[in-house]
Amino acid sequence: MSDTPDPPTVTPDVRSWITRFFDAIGWTEQIADDIAQGQENAAAEAAFDAIADIRANQRITDSRGGRGTVSITEVNGQTYVGVNSTNFTEEDRALAQSWENALEIPAGPAGRFARQVLYHAEAHTLMQIHRDSGGQMPAEMTIYVDRIACSACQNTLPDLVRVMGIETLTVRLDDGRIATVTRDGFFGDWQ
Ligand SMILES: [Zn+2]
Repeated sequence: MSDTPDPPTVTPDVRSWITRFFDAIGWTEQIADDIAQGQENAAAEAAFDAIADIRANQRITDSRGGRGTVSITEVNGQTYVGVNSTNFTEEDRALAQSWENALEIPAGPAGRFARQVLYHAEAHTLMQIHRDSGGQMPAEMTIYVDRIACSACQNTLPDLVRVMGIETLTVRLDDGRIATVTRDGFFGDWQ
């Protein structure tokens, strides 16, 4: 990686995440280059270096004050960082709520399990990309996540990718394990 580039011009609603983490953006160029060259392991290494960079600059907590989850990817030349909802901005919360409606998740306790997906790092990444792209999601995409998907995400991410129009979402962990999410289900190589 060479010098860290200037932060890109971004819309105000994504600026908070980009500028807080813009140290990671130089790594994102590396990720994009590696993916273009079919160097998936190198791309993953760059992605998890970027996550380490983020963690060095910002404490990411979970709901109990422990270590939260971070997800990162690059789409359309833009870095997207996802975190769990303890770290959400007000805009992030509004975004998640709009997807509760889009997924027709029942209000109250009946929707508690399904709802969780929208407040976790994986979906947080996808929701931001969907917003910024005007709903033009890549048919195939990879996100890098530093924790194994919880049962709620394994259950409900397939619905989210279906509604978003993603055909294949690859979730890659820092230990090399991979999950493939399609509208038909969540298929982890650890299952
Ligand atoms: Zn989850």
